[in-house]
Amino acid sequence: MGPAPTLVWFRRDLRIADNPALRDAVEAGPVVCLWVADPGILGRRHHAAPARLRFLRAGLEALDAALRDRGSRLVVRTGVPEEVIPAVAAECGAGAVRWAREVSPLGRARDARVAGALERAGVTAIEDPGDLVAEPEDLPGSSGEGYLVFTPFSRAWMEVPLPPHRPAPRRVDGPELPSDGLGALPDGDPLIPAGPDAARRVLVDFITRGAADRYGTGRDAVAADGTSRLSAYLRFGMVTGAQIGRALGLPDEISAGRMAFWRQVCWREFYHHHLRRHPEVARMALRPKLRDVLWDHDPELLRAWRDGRTGYPFVDAGMRQLAAEGWVHNRARMVVASFLVKDLLIDWRVGETVFMQGLLDGDPANNNGGWQWTAGTGTDAAPWFRVFNPVLQGRRFDPHGAYVRRWVPELRDVPDDRVHEPWRMSDDQQRRAGCVLGGDYPHRVVDHAERRGAALERYRAAAGAAPR
Ligand SMILES: Cc1cc2nc3c(=O)[nH]c(=O)nc-3n(C[C@H](O)[C@H](O)[C@H](O)COP(=O)(O)OP(=O)(O)OC[C@H]3O[C@@H](n4cnc5c(N)ncnc54)[C@H](O)[C@@H]3O)c2cc1C
Repeated sequence: MGPAPTLVWFRRDLRIADNPALRDAVEAGPVVCLWVADPGILGRRHHAAPARLRFLRAGLEALDAALRDRGSRLVVRTGVPEEVIPAVAAECGAGAVRWAREVSPLGRARDARVAGALERAGVTAIEDPGDLVAEPEDLPGSSGEGYLVFTPFSRAWMEVPLPPHRPAPRRVDGPELPSDGLGALPDGDPLIPAGPDAARRVLVDFITRGAADRYGTGRDAVAADGTSRLSAYLRFGMVTGAQIGRALGLPDEISAGRMAFWRQVCWREFYHHHLRRHPEVARMALRPKLRDVLWDHDPELLRAWRDGRTGYPFVDAGMRQLAAEGWVHNRARMVVASFLVKDLLIDWRVGETVFMQGLLDGDPANNNGGWQWTAGTGTDAAPWFRVFNPVLQGRRFDPHGAYVRRWVPELRDVPDDRVHEPWRMSDDQQRRAGCVLGGDYPHRVVDHAERRGAALERYRAAAGAAPR
């Protein structure tokens, strides 16, 4: 009798190369590859972005195709993982179940329940490294509790050698099991092609067209194609940080632009470590003093923000890009987030949820990190009284208004010097530009200068400190 099969449970590691769980399982003997459609997760408000689920579905189809090329397939089962996984293990006589480690509190709690159920069933549960370059325990920091500040984290992270490349297995053999199929996920074309091959094309294109080398100077130009757009692929493990590092030419010396880009990949790892070590941030501000900021509940203002109809062009462009592409430029993410929190005085967690419901790359660690950074409640060294001015941000990062005109076509013929503040147009200018405020395009829903003052008051009251 040969070795018992190993069950490999795929979650957000939808690739067969550089996948330690799959590789080690294949080396040990027969393998069954499993994905579980967990109604508890798919049905959650935070996890239900239809665009992301379509992308996930296409990624699972790509994974299934890659496994079929190697003599296997992806078995899909629907149900609660702690019930489904021991049942599938029993069905194929598996001696062990392997999966890649998670950082989100929800995922970790689920994995602990699955591990417990497997233990009771006498099946070994093995947690393999996930897709991070460094696992949290590799970077304990001087306190042993990790890092709260990015710069020292990044210094330590940059020293960590890239994990060695582990090629895709040539064959994946194992018992055949029936599969439920992917009916639990919405079908239809994803907004961008899914899977490791697509990720590889995006990465290679980013490098060969020179954008990686120009990244340091080009990344903030919102209208240009200056960033990699790899975030959704990273989100589902269709590409890993280590694969990106190798493609950039690490560990050899690389250009300043590539290094600046690598530093952004490091932000992702920072937030992943952070969420792993401080799961409470998924629900509340990291800084205890800022847990009690008084927020407004104004459904009309929230709707205006969500629909891209605040009357602030840069904010509206960002929110309309979110709705259309399921992706928003990082600069625009910061501006729309700051506007919700510091201009509309709406709780950052509301914005965090709206992003999760729209982003292809919606990721508990990065999204929470980004929102807490912008709200000034998280790890950021900059103080809470930094407030983005949407007009100045627009003038600086979209000087000719190409970005706002693309997403807010009502502003197409507005002159450059008014395109980020159309309320400064005279009635005559508005008519000539075909953009009459209150008709073609909304009046500003709030006055930025006024609201900035109000937001700082609220923060000051919560923090018990006067802004400098
Ligand atoms: C309010 C807010 C919410 C955000 N929500 C998410 C989210 O849900 N998912 C997500 O992946 N990113 C999020 N980000 C971070 C960042 O905006 C996106 O990762 C980036 O815009 C994705 O585009 P890209 O792949 O072209 O990035 P690039 O500029 O090409 O960067 C490469 C990769 O580095 C990582 N990265 C870059 N910037 C950051 C950052 N500031 N924080 C963490 N990782 C970063 C991403 O994985 C990204 O794909 C958020 C930022 C803010 C301000």
